[in-house]
Amino acid sequence: GIVFRGLMPVVVAIFVSVAVVVLIMWLYASKLIKCMQQLGDFFLKVESGDLKTELGTLVLNREDELGRIGMSALQMQSSLRDLIERDALTGLYNRHYGEEFLWEAQKELLSRRTPFYVAIGDIDFFKQFNDEHGHDCGDLVLREISAILRQSVQDMGSVARWGGEEFLFVLSGKHIEDVEQFINDIAREVRNRKIEYGGQILSVTMTFGVTNGDGDMHTDEIVKKADEALYMGKQTGRDKVVYKH
Ligand code: GH3
Ligand code: MG
Ligand code: MG
Repeated sequence: GIVFRGLMPVVVAIFVSVAVVVLIMWLYASKLIKCMQQLGDFFLKVESGDLKTELGTLVLNREDELGRIGMSALQMQSSLRDLIERDALTGLYNRHYGEEFLWEAQKELLSRRTPFYVAIGDIDFFKQFNDEHGHDCGDLVLREISAILRQSVQDMGSVARWGGEEFLFVLSGKHIEDVEQFINDIAREVRNRKIEYGGQILSVTMTFGVTNGDGDMHTDEIVKKADEALYMGKQTGRDKVVYKH
C-alpha cells in the first residue's frame, strides 16, 4: 500500500508526460498532413491546366523540406507558364496568349464597359534588313525592339509577338487621340534606338495600324481591321501610325 502510494505521483507524472507527447505529436502530424494536402491540391490544379492557382501559405511559410518542395513547385508552375505563354526569342507573350488577352479585354468591355484599342505594329523592310545584316543581327533587333515595346506598354495594356516581326497590342484608354499619341511615342522610340552589331550602328522603323475594340465583333475581325490600317500605313510611306475606326 505504502509503496503503491509512493509510486502514484510517478505513475501520474509518466502518464501525463506521455499524454502531452502524444498530443504534441498529433498536432504536429495534423499540421504536416494539412501542408501535404495543400501541396497535393496545388499539384492537382496545375495538372488540370490551372497555371494561375496559388499555393497555400501553410506550405510556403515553412523553412523545412516541405517548404522547399513548395518553392520548387511554384518555380515549376512559373516555368510552365513561360513555356506556354511566352515567345522564346523575345520573352514577349506569344500569339496564343495574345489571343487570350484580347478576349479578356473584350469580356471587360462587355461586362464593365471598359473601352480598349487594338494595334498591330510591324517592322519596316525587315526582310531586306536580314538580307543585308544577317539573321542573327535580325534576331538581336527583334529582342531590342521587344524590350522597348514591353517597357512602353506596362500599365497601358499588353503586347504579344503576333508573327515574325509583327506585334499585337491591346491598350486601355478612353480617347483614341491618347492611344494614337501613345503609339506615336513608341514609334519614335523605336526609330531613335541605336543598335550596335559587328561594329555598326543600326536602326529600324515600324508601322502601326490602330483600331478600337468592339463588343459585337469577333476578335479576328477586330485584328483584321487593325491589319487593314497597318496595310494603309505600309502603302503610304511606312514609319507611321494609322487609325481606322
Ligand atoms: P514591310 O515593310 O512591308 O513589312 O516589309 P518586310 O520586309 O518587313 O515584310 P515581309 O513580311 O516581306 O518580311 C518579313 C521578314 O521578317 C521576313 C523574315 O526574314 C523576317 N523575320 C521573321 N521572323 C524573324 C525572326 O525570328 N528572326 C529574323 N532575324 N527575321 C525574321
Ligand atoms: Mg515588316
Ligand atoms: Mg510582317
